[in-house]
Amino acid sequence: MGMSMATTGFDSISDAPVLIVGGGISGLALGIALRRAGQTVHLVELNPAWNVYGVGIILQANALRALHMLGLSEACIAAGYPYSMSLHHEEDGSPRSARQKPSLANEGLPASCGILRPALHNLLRDAALAAGVQVRLGITVDAIGDEPAAAHVRFSDGSEGRYALVVGADGLRSKVRDLCFPQAQAPRFTGQGCWRFTLPRAEQVQSAMMYHGRQARVAGLVPVSRDAMYLLLLSEEPGNPRLADGDLPDLLRERLQHFGGLIPAAARYMPGPQDIVYRPLETQLVAPPWHRGRVVLAGDSAHATTPHMAQGASMAFEDAVVLADCLGAPGSLEQALQRYTERRFERCRRVVEASLQVGQWQMRPEPGSDPMALLRDVAAELMKPA
Ligand SMILES: Cc1cc2nc3c(=O)[nH]c(=O)nc-3n(C[C@H](O)[C@H](O)[C@H](O)COP(=O)(O)OP(=O)(O)OC[C@H]3O[C@@H](n4cnc5c(N)ncnc54)[C@H](O)[C@@H]3O)c2cc1C
Repeated sequence: MGMSMATTGFDSISDAPVLIVGGGISGLALGIALRRAGQTVHLVELNPAWNVYGVGIILQANALRALHMLGLSEACIAAGYPYSMSLHHEEDGSPRSARQKPSLANEGLPASCGILRPALHNLLRDAALAAGVQVRLGITVDAIGDEPAAAHVRFSDGSEGRYALVVGADGLRSKVRDLCFPQAQAPRFTGQGCWRFTLPRAEQVQSAMMYHGRQARVAGLVPVSRDAMYLLLLSEEPGNPRLADGDLPDLLRERLQHFGGLIPAAARYMPGPQDIVYRPLETQLVAPPWHRGRVVLAGDSAHATTPHMAQGASMAFEDAVVLADCLGAPGSLEQALQRYTERRFERCRRVVEASLQVGQWQMRPEPGSDPMALLRDVAAELMKPA
């Protein structure tokens, strides 16, 4: 794919629309940011229902900062459950440590906010539509040709378009990455899986409560609203077994059986298989730069992390605000996109590698390793502006 050069950043792309592929966290956040700057934005989303699974997600302070820049932090905090501590326990439920999470209190933001993924999605979707992002559902890109004046895109419904910039915000299994970054390594399974389901919030759960169990298992309860919380479990899953949906409740019950504290009472709310979200954990880091000509990657398509730091969505939000910022700065499109990778790569690499390392240590403890210290140090670094 050839390198096309435009003469200025945002000014040069304002005459043709930007195409965002993927209406998830990074795509919607970028759409909102670009619309606020007056850019015409088209977005295609493969999922015709445009919905997300019904469990929770943790937004750390740096995600809330990016949401604040998009004018959405207050709505998110109102829809979710802000908290400032993570409380760690032994497997039997006895307390181990209490950690104050790093915060941006000076910016008026809580350290963390648990929120249901559908609540976050609805908020971002409504804001993107209200801002004028033009959305088409149930289609994807089939081909992207990079020409000097525009990227020429053929869609899966046979339609075509010319765009100033194409953004691959299409997640871990990115089609844009497959089409334009054929050398990028595929996401790889890390050895662990993550289980989640939603249940009524227990009065005691006012912060993230983690329980460190045998066989590298870590269970947790995270508040996501006044009324709801989610249970999560990280477990080693050697060989990445294919788990039948119908077996998920029994398999999760079995993996939770040794935990004490609040976990047994929570496990009694075990839902049917359709309401248990199981995901094998995968990791991926595309080598820089994250653009080829007029095509650029954002979010999980460029860097997918395991959830040990709960930073995947934060990185996706930060990508969106930084990319919009770079496109708005003086200079060529090529310079803007180069600057974007420069500002993002090291920060995302740090998150991906630290999260992976903590997972490895959970499965194979090493003498002298200190996962909590690594998590604390990286989390503190992330309080610096993106
Ligand atoms: C088990 C687990 C727990 C997690 N917990 C947390 C957490 O607590 N906190 C946190 O910050 N992060 C967490 N994450 C990570 C977070 O969910 C992701 O990092 C984040 O959603 C990435 O945003 P994205 O926009 O790149 O992708 P997504 O949000 O996945 O959006 C991608 C969108 O693209 C669409 N799409 C896919 N393919 C195509 C295509 N070919 N054409 C068009 N559209 C397409 C999809 O339907 C989707 O709407 C977790 C991840 C996992 C797996």
